[in-house]
Amino acid sequence: MIELKNVSKWYQDFQALHDCSVQVEKGEVVIFCGPSGSGKSTLIKLINGLESFEKGDILFQGQSIKAAGVKLPALRRRIGMVFQHFELFPHLTVLENLTIAQIKVLRRSGADAEGKALSLLDRVGLTAHARKYPSQLSGGQQQRVAIARSLSMDPEVMLFDEPTSALDPEMINEVLTVMAELACDGMTMLCVTHEMGFARQVADRVVFMDAGSIVEISPTDEFFSAPKSERARDFLGKIL
Ligand code: ATP
Ligand code: MG
Repeated sequence: MIELKNVSKWYQDFQALHDCSVQVEKGEVVIFCGPSGSGKSTLIKLINGLESFEKGDILFQGQSIKAAGVKLPALRRRIGMVFQHFELFPHLTVLENLTIAQIKVLRRSGADAEGKALSLLDRVGLTAHARKYPSQLSGGQQQRVAIARSLSMDPEVMLFDEPTSALDPEMINEVLTVMAELACDGMTMLCVTHEMGFARQVADRVVFMDAGSIVEISPTDEFFSAPKSERARDFLGKIL
């Protein structure tokens, strides 16, 4: 479904990604981990065109995202993304946050958009909060709204970049639970996270990055029980 082929990226004269290749199949959950500055966020951002890259190619459903005629807004509609900081619209209610893009971008009717929004709010356990504003919710609740908002566009794949790292510890699990359910439902997911318990439980494979390179790609069990590379062993030793 998503294939990175020998992707290299520079920020001015600093090379942030070195010859990265990885393929993610439909329905797979792949975790990206590695030390700070290893290029995880950069790699995720390339996939939906938030950053450009100089070498290699990225295929989405078999088509290069660099191909003539591929429009970034259209691409982003098909690829949901949730960041560390949940950028909800502060002046809109939870329900409006979930309906606005459906109505404006997908041209759904207000009633259809609201129906979809309410079913997603139910799925993330926030039905009772539909009429509130983001500032009236906890961080964990806001992040669940952000996930529901992404899902309202019916994405074919979801990208997550440390969705729980800005949250207080007691709110992390409620967000991870929503993500785990999404994975169970068959969503294709690429997640940058340091939540290794979640990774172990949910991921099919782990991609370990260091210094802009993909050092290791392993099935989850193998990664945790017998990492192939010295650098991954070192990293796991520090965080587990
Ligand atoms: P973290 O775990 O801290 O989030 P990361 O693995 O996500 O780290 P990236 O944010 O992808 O790492 O950064 C990779 C490298 O690229 C770092 O050395 C970073 O300083 C550099 N970098 C990232 N964004 C930019 C930018 N906009 N301009 C210049 N350099 C950048
Ligand atoms: Mg990052």
